Amino acid sequence: MELTKLDADELPAPLADLRKAYDELKAQNLSLDLTRGKPAAEQLDLSNELLCLPGKDVFKAGGTDTRNYGGLAGLPELREIFSGPLGVPVPQLLALGNSSLAVMHETIVFALLKGPVDGEPWVGQQIKFLCPVPGYDRHFSLLKQFGIEAVPVPLHEDGPDMDVVERLVAEDASIKGIWCVPKYANPTGAVYSEDTVRRLASMPTAAKDFRLFWDNAYALHHLTEDAVEIANVLELATAAGNPNRPFVFASSSKITHAGSGVAFFGGSPENVAWLTKNQSFGTIGPDKVNHLRHVAFLKDTEGLLAHMDKQRAVIAPKFEMVLYMLEKRLGGTGVAQWSKPKGGYFISLDVLEGTAKRVVQLAKEAGIVLTPAGATFPHGDDPRDRNIRLAPTFPDIREVALATEGVVTCVLLAAVEKLSG
Ligand code: PLP
Repeated sequence: MELTKLDADELPAPLADLRKAYDELKAQNLSLDLTRGKPAAEQLDLSNELLCLPGKDVFKAGGTDTRNYGGLAGLPELREIFSGPLGVPVPQLLALGNSSLAVMHETIVFALLKGPVDGEPWVGQQIKFLCPVPGYDRHFSLLKQFGIEAVPVPLHEDGPDMDVVERLVAEDASIKGIWCVPKYANPTGAVYSEDTVRRLASMPTAAKDFRLFWDNAYALHHLTEDAVEIANVLELATAAGNPNRPFVFASSSKITHAGSGVAFFGGSPENVAWLTKNQSFGTIGPDKVNHLRHVAFLKDTEGLLAHMDKQRAVIAPKFEMVLYMLEKRLGGTGVAQWSKPKGGYFISLDVLEGTAKRVVQLAKEAGIVLTPAGATFPHGDDPRDRNIRLAPTFPDIREVALATEGVVTCVLLAAVEKLSG
């Protein structure tokens, strides 16, 4: 039933039905959580061999004794495995600590305090970053932490609205960067088209030290057999005469163990030397034993891809369940739209404008925790109060089904309440 087409006198009946359904939902005393973009224990179990690797007598890789200091660029054997999938040549790819977010943080701190290779220190300047929305809340809070202004730009299915992006960066020299999750974006699953990547890599920018913060967190995280490929940003930027523009980030957090994976940084030779030099004051090298452990476990790029197939087998059914239930109960109602991601960790649900906060509140009172409404926008401010991020990976499939069923009831109730005025 298309709820948005109902006349005022037709609304009381569905409202009464939904209130009843909601009371029944509450009576179930659920305790469910769809907030966490975390791997489930079953996914972590796939990599448990890591806990026994590399083995007590195995500590050498090539000529490197991984137990010792040094090797700021990380173990070459591991960089070799990730080089192809991340589209970064081995000499331009660093294997670092356990978190790519930490590397993004460091990169911003070094740009602020020391300046990028082609610019003055950003500190003291009023700087801004473009933020495709909806997006990843931690990108936004990282900006807030350093007083960097977040400028929202619309994110479409094929990437940020490039007409808006090109206009803003061309006219405003205080815009120093843009957050990009180019494949299976958090939370919509958007995949940047070749045209988008080309435009980002080549567009004229007023700031000569403008950066693409290319967070390729979900490069290998397919949910279907269609292993989507995106254009190579480093190659395109280099060809366009902007080799230093992309900072590429990735990690194995959602490949092996989220708390003890390996982060990667890729960029032009100049950017790589810049990061390494700045890091060298704070460390004598990354955890190469962890790198070696990952080499022993994944073996080669084929092993990495085969491992991701196992991950997909665990999580794809959970996404299918959510999508099936959304379609079944919200399809055709006119009060919700949602993304159908081909990869990544999230489904983005747009409810009737002005009801997202109410939905999250109703769900909470019924024992279902959702990511706060607005979290996918800078400063937690979704101007249309309609976006909700669903994270189906962590709960088991029964819980995913129960939680989605409950959320749908809340979406419908909040919508009919709103339409009833
Ligand atoms: N980037 C994106 C887009 C994410 O969604 C996440 C985690 O949810 C991260 C980075 C965190 O990465 P890491 O575990 O490597 O710090």
